[in-house]
Amino acid sequence: MGRVLNFSAGPSQLPLSVLERAAREMTDYGNTGTSVMEMSHRSKAFENILFKSKEDLRKLMNIPENYDVLYMQGGASTQFAAVPLNLLGDKDAADYVDTGTWADKALKEAKKYCKVNVVASSKAETYNHIPELDKSKFNPNAAYFHITTNNTIFGTKWSTLPDVGGVPLVTDMSSSILSEPVDVAKYGLIYAGAQKNIGPAGLVVVIIRKDLLELSKEKAKEMTPTMLRYDICAENDSMYNTPPTYSIYIAGLVFEHLLNLGGLEEMKKRNVAKANLLYGFLDNSKMFKATVRKQDRSLMNVPFVTGNEELDDKCVKQATAAGLINLKGHRSVGGLRASIYNAIDLDGVKTLVNFLEKFEKENA
Ligand code: PMP
Repeated sequence: MGRVLNFSAGPSQLPLSVLERAAREMTDYGNTGTSVMEMSHRSKAFENILFKSKEDLRKLMNIPENYDVLYMQGGASTQFAAVPLNLLGDKDAADYVDTGTWADKALKEAKKYCKVNVVASSKAETYNHIPELDKSKFNPNAAYFHITTNNTIFGTKWSTLPDVGGVPLVTDMSSSILSEPVDVAKYGLIYAGAQKNIGPAGLVVVIIRKDLLELSKEKAKEMTPTMLRYDICAENDSMYNTPPTYSIYIAGLVFEHLLNLGGLEEMKKRNVAKANLLYGFLDNSKMFKATVRKQDRSLMNVPFVTGNEELDDKCVKQATAAGLINLKGHRSVGGLRASIYNAIDLDGVKTLVNFLEKFEKENA
């Protein structure tokens, strides 16, 4: 079977050239006679892979010197606990904005360790927008302020960051990292699960300001598992234990690939063109409707509905048969969702739009 177009929300499509290179290098990486999977993580060859991948990520995201890049494990969900355990310091409260299922899971996990102040929520409207914030609801004594940059299930993203003053802004950037440039200096900590724009699931990238590393060193909660301590991870170059070596290698290949394409300005250009094409079609369609209000629309995850469940199902089935897979919407929104991460190019979105156009004509 040839490659299909995979619109999964994650794990999702990876660049073909990366997969092909990994395949070529599978049994003999760089004349070592071994697969990366078989290498000691203490070997020079693997250290080079790890350090180069971090350098490439720094270049891609323009990460300032006063930030460290950590590779951790356990998916983004493990960070829901790691963040409060490491960053509460002497404080006992944190601010969260509830913009979707993942934001809700993050704040529920944090409740095990501190008082959570939910500054705003769009839950009552099925999370179809980013809620307005009332600054009087911010807790000035919060240890940090947590947001979810891009809400994978509901297809919203923050276009303007909240003004949190001196409180560190922490974000879950799992489903939008590397899709466009971000000003890292606006954040205290960014975390992202890898399985959308980076590589294999399980790996998590954490970008942390160094004063927060100090905070975790001095004030992490006593109970914090060693494997979740940011300072210990940093002091050991992300190799306190055996790191997920193969996942780090694939992430490195993806970073190199994106740098070769022209970096994140170029990815933004491409992603905006893709999103404009798809939303443009949806906004003009008489059958399909995008579910998110315009100013909050994600570049990466595009949910849409026909308003008729049977028709939605028929559309998903026919799409699958045509080689456009994983278009079924999340059960909490219904309908369809196209996740158009970096590895789906403009031609892929054109193919999707052509398919939807044809489906609309045939089922009008
Ligand atoms: N946050 C967001 C925004 C996500 O989309 C996901 C997974 N889809 C998660 C967290 C959870 O990630 P993981 O499965 O890696 O724990």
